[in-house]
Amino acid sequence: MYRLFVDLAGIDAVSLHEKPIADHLTDWFSRRGLTVEMDDAGQKCGSDCGNLLVRIPGTDEPLMLVAHLDTVAPTAGLQPILEDDIIRSDGQTILGADNRAGVAVILYAVEQLLAHKRPHRSLELVFTIAEELGMLGALALDFSSLQAREAYIFDCSREIGSYVFQTPTAIDFDIDFYGKAAHSGVNPERGINALSMALPVLQAIPVGRVDAKTVANIGTIRGGQAINVVPDQVEVTGEMRSFDSTTLEKLTQSIQDSCLQAAQKHNGRIEPHFKVGFQGFTLSQDNPVVERLLRVLERLEISGNPLVYYGGSDANVFNANGIQALNIGIGASNPHSTDEQIALSDLLSGAQIIQYLTEVDR
Ligand SMILES: [Zn+2]
Repeated sequence: MYRLFVDLAGIDAVSLHEKPIADHLTDWFSRRGLTVEMDDAGQKCGSDCGNLLVRIPGTDEPLMLVAHLDTVAPTAGLQPILEDDIIRSDGQTILGADNRAGVAVILYAVEQLLAHKRPHRSLELVFTIAEELGMLGALALDFSSLQAREAYIFDCSREIGSYVFQTPTAIDFDIDFYGKAAHSGVNPERGINALSMALPVLQAIPVGRVDAKTVANIGTIRGGQAINVVPDQVEVTGEMRSFDSTTLEKLTQSIQDSCLQAAQKHNGRIEPHFKVGFQGFTLSQDNPVVERLLRVLERLEISGNPLVYYGGSDANVFNANGIQALNIGIGASNPHSTDEQIALSDLLSGAQIIQYLTEVDR
């Protein structure tokens, strides 16, 4: 497991440059007599390869296992250190456990299934690209090519036993302010200041923890050309996440209202754009994917830890497309940083969880 994981983690393949890891997996599965299908998500989202799909025949309804191929930062030259069961990098790179640990536990479990030849459920393995850029690969997936209606996603950087049963919906916004350029010293009257227009709109957007179910952020602001030019263009981006759809509608409406007011007052033009960043979901305790996981955890004497999580993952995209998808803890911690780490024993537990999940339901 250690060898498998560090070999996968050390393959340098950040978002939109996943080809090296995709090639590696294609070769790995081919050597085991399994066919790897690649879809056209790469063309759709600008990556050098697509999502990978591997179908493993078995009995019963197919079950889907998912991990993402990309890492958030390079892992080239990764120097793994194993000390008292904990794997970390030497501090020069991230470890890449997010999400190569997910890939590793799936591969390890598949190897066991093939070796032991015991009956198991049919499997669909899905390896997505560009998850870290907002689940771009999952969003470009052709869901009609998938038969499984239940999925486990191995991409939650929390302790083993954790599972995300609820996430908010995220709305991304992008507001374009169009004024009119003029020399601010010689002809200020001829200009319409896009930045002045943006200020009241920005002030009207609540930021931070808005209420018990809602957070919001203004993320970027771009615009202006020089200190002596009235800025004719400003772009502001941000997002809001809430468990309450009415709150999201109200916030969206209030941003639109303040845009209208500011545009009228300054005689300029403001175009606010909104899109769903990810769709929220709630999986109840009696949902079959949750029930099955809890039964497996009980057999392994691991306590289940249901999480309400404000972050998005491929699980949001799968759930929005009619597949019951549970994102589960793989034991990793400090993702996206050079302090990232994972316990070798947790990797083994992850593979054991897959073993039990893929048993034929009795
Ligand atoms: Zn991840």
